[in-house]
Amino acid sequence: MTGSHEVAISGGGIGGLSAALALARSGVSSVVFERQAQWSEEGAGVQLGPNATRRLIAWGLEKALFDCAAWPERIEALNAKSGEVLCALPLGSRCQVRYGAPYATLMRADLQRLLREGVERLGLTQLRLGERLLPETLLAIDSGERTPSQADLLAFGVRAEGLTLGPETERGEVAPSGRGNAVQVQTHLTQALIGADGVFSPLREHLFQAPPLQYTGHLAYRALVARADLPAALRSNAVRLFLGPKMHWVQYPVRGGEWFNVVVLLEIESARAAERAQHLARQRRFLSNPWHQHPTQNPMSQAESSQDLQALQDALARSCTALQEVASLVPAWSVWPLFAAKPLLSGAGMCQGHVALLGDAAHPMLPYLAQGAGMSIEDAQALSSCWGERSLLVSERLALYAQWRWQRCAQVQRRASRNASLFHWGGALGFMRDRALAVFGTRLMDLPWLYSA
Ligand SMILES: Cc1cc2nc3c(=O)[nH]c(=O)nc-3n(C[C@H](O)[C@H](O)[C@H](O)COP(=O)(O)OP(=O)(O)OC[C@H]3O[C@@H](n4cnc5c(N)ncnc54)[C@H](O)[C@@H]3O)c2cc1C
Repeated sequence: MTGSHEVAISGGGIGGLSAALALARSGVSSVVFERQAQWSEEGAGVQLGPNATRRLIAWGLEKALFDCAAWPERIEALNAKSGEVLCALPLGSRCQVRYGAPYATLMRADLQRLLREGVERLGLTQLRLGERLLPETLLAIDSGERTPSQADLLAFGVRAEGLTLGPETERGEVAPSGRGNAVQVQTHLTQALIGADGVFSPLREHLFQAPPLQYTGHLAYRALVARADLPAALRSNAVRLFLGPKMHWVQYPVRGGEWFNVVVLLEIESARAAERAQHLARQRRFLSNPWHQHPTQNPMSQAESSQDLQALQDALARSCTALQEVASLVPAWSVWPLFAAKPLLSGAGMCQGHVALLGDAAHPMLPYLAQGAGMSIEDAQALSSCWGERSLLVSERLALYAQWRWQRCAQVQRRASRNASLFHWGGALGFMRDRALAVFGTRLMDLPWLYSA
């Protein structure tokens, strides 16, 4: 036995670190197990609406956020073929005044770093890198009759990790190899276990008997382009959404505007794409989320396949010259298949007894509302508030958290899926969407139900 903790968190991504920070700000100590051996320094960008930045600021991260984020002036929707601006939602001071917090765009690695630094400053959290929590070892320690979800205390095993992958078996499974296999499992005790272990959450699969996630048929290609490399006309300090048939392009500044994050989202529903997506998904159960790593460190997610690149080139060939010009400046694309779950149906999808899920583990969604990280941050604050209800049993506090969160997260999941269709309409439907945006766009793009929470 190596440790006993009030709260144990599986996963040190945005969700896990946010939970640790929100708990620490209420004086609650926790331990975070992160299977990656080190924090990744690179990665893609994220947009954070005022619903997320409001919480980061309340957690004392205002200065750190201002030091590394960019502050887009507006969100623009454009037609990908003609380049016509259809509508714009002003952000900047309007967002600050209307929602009491700013709209930020930043590198995910910067967000993770500032959360980690916040956690470290408070000194109440153990951050244990390179340690994988093993859901199959979860156990109630007070009675052999009870299941992990009914226990007063939970015991679980953690194994030190190497990140090398072994060969794929005939069943298509990939197991880690290297030092991880040789190291003993250590046992820990906790009052509550929080699964913040990402889109392929091992805890969700093991304990919540959730069906495996399915490939959505959508691929994300991402890249960073230096501002200095872009022609002046293309250096817009806006979040720009170019909408086209079965594709859209998102672009926004990060790192104070020094870099532009570019993501192209394509619908590719071939059998080959689905097979490759499932293969990558199997590998992701063992690797950290390669989406968050730099393409050069992440050979599996590089757009190495000529078919992936061809699909991207075909989509760009149907797009305006501005997009083609930016694409020509991209040194390397990293491609990633997108997985999502059906919207949550009840609090039971987020909590069972002394175990609760948070972030992507609880509500994997398409990134078409740019709110996955935002929901993780909201979850974390809600968890910490519920944990403060000391008159309740641990299981009641977690049930309260799940009850509080599931409907909002389900609403965001539904809206993200709806955007997936809407953004990718072509033909007559695309024409009607563009006209509706041209007339009502600002009102349609402003989302008080989302941003004011
Ligand atoms: C293309 C794309 C664009 C996006 N854009 C946005 C955006 O603009 N705005 C936004 O808000 N969101 C966006 N998102 C979503 C956002 O990135 C995620 O919702 C967010 O990072 C989820 O954080 P998480 O902590 O729940 O999961 P993750 O970041 O995946 O973290 C999970 C962590 O758990 C670890 N782990 C897994 N299993 C174990 C284990 N057994 N033991 C220990 N550790 C374990 C993993 O290594 C990982 O570090 C986007 C996503 C994509 C794919």
